[in-house]
Amino acid sequence: MNGPVPVEVLKQHLIDPEICIRCNTCEETCPIDAITHDENNYVVRADTCNGCMACISPCPTGAIDNWRDVLKAESYSVDAQLTWDELPVQDDALAGQGAIGEAAEGAAAGTTAGDAESAEPAIGGSDLVRGSVVPPWSAAKPYVNLYNHKAPVQATVVGNYRVTDASTESDIHHIVLDFGKQPFPVLEGQSIGIIPPGTTADGRAHHARQYSIASPRDGERAGYNNLALTVKRVTKDHHEQAVGGVCSNYLCDLKKGDVVNVMGPFGSTFLMPNHADSHLLMICTGTGAAPMRAMTEYRRRRRLKGATGKLMLFFGARTQGELPYFGPLLNLPKDFIDTNLAFSRTPGQAKRYVQDAMRERATDVAALLRHEHTYIYVCGLKGMEDGVLQALQAIAGEAGLDWQALWQRMKTEGRLHLETY
Ligand code: NAP
Repeated sequence: MNGPVPVEVLKQHLIDPEICIRCNTCEETCPIDAITHDENNYVVRADTCNGCMACISPCPTGAIDNWRDVLKAESYSVDAQLTWDELPVQDDALAGQGAIGEAAEGAAAGTTAGDAESAEPAIGGSDLVRGSVVPPWSAAKPYVNLYNHKAPVQATVVGNYRVTDASTESDIHHIVLDFGKQPFPVLEGQSIGIIPPGTTADGRAHHARQYSIASPRDGERAGYNNLALTVKRVTKDHHEQAVGGVCSNYLCDLKKGDVVNVMGPFGSTFLMPNHADSHLLMICTGTGAAPMRAMTEYRRRRRLKGATGKLMLFFGARTQGELPYFGPLLNLPKDFIDTNLAFSRTPGQAKRYVQDAMRERATDVAALLRHEHTYIYVCGLKGMEDGVLQALQAIAGEAGLDWQALWQRMKTEGRLHLETY
């Protein structure tokens, strides 16, 4: 009784190497480690991915949302995907016949998928999505992917200056790009891709690098079609070895009048609420200040036009001289923004992180947590995410709030946004 052997067709999850900006969000989000990468590409393991979709919304570009119907026995290997410059074409004979891997069916029934089914990840435990994957309900609708690496838009540098003290090691630049008459609509919290000129050692074109926009939707200069970036010159890697960051050095060395190839905009969730009485609790380190600057400036421009919500900022840097925008920040009226700075390497003083400053202001942070119109934004170093979530948990607990329930609610309501690298 030998029946025909069923030919299994897999709906294989793939990442488009042409659009991907290698931001690592998908790999961090995947609850079952189905995503990996090398210097060239981010790829999905066909035998591990269960189609849980946790990675889809957080991807700023949409590169993650690609699928090909393939014979399961001939699914694309990791090694093959790592060499791709573009996605393979869909075999018409198999189109529409694919099913997501077996594990996915189990996941849908709540039987597999590892941590994906657990109600909440423990802080410091699973990296399952910890922040919102939806925008605030009142956020303006963003435009995304108007330009890609094959058809980038050209922006002209109209400003480039250092925003950290000249005596410090941190060379952080405020760079203003003008798009002239070309459409480039952006919202606070979105990012863009910069394509550095030249090629890698093996002759491939450089990948685009992602930078958060540091200016509001109506322009760095209000009414102009321009935007600002906050870029730190990379001179060392994570192990303190000397390395020249390809794109950061390119950007920091640009002169007025230079022309830059830009992709994007990207991002449809890390956006600010538009309703005037919404409160913003912003927590950032270093160049993670970029989106906070954008949101703060947008609110400042709307302040006299009816925006009444509170702004509370926790901002960490090594020293005062290394905190970008230190001067302008302190000039903002105290009744407009409640600014709290934390310096970790001030000579003669104890190390202080943003989460320490948050704990010191526990009463006021708790008051914001209680408010259903409060939106939280965390941006900066990856390492701060655990510390900030732990601080929020402790502050909520002391105030008699059920943090697990509140955390879940804020996530689903688009009120807790994390962007750390
Ligand atoms: P940095 O100068 O290395 O660090 C900023 C501050 O954060 C320092 O005081 C540092 O203290 C502190 N810190 C270190 N670990 C911490 C932890 N676990 N919890 C809380 N604070 C901690 O920062 P950076 O070089 O500017 O890097 C900023 C990060 O933001 C980068 O990873 C960047 O990719 C990311 N980012 C940038 C943008 C952009 O548009 N440019 C946008 C989003 C995110 P120590 O003295 O202990 O080092």
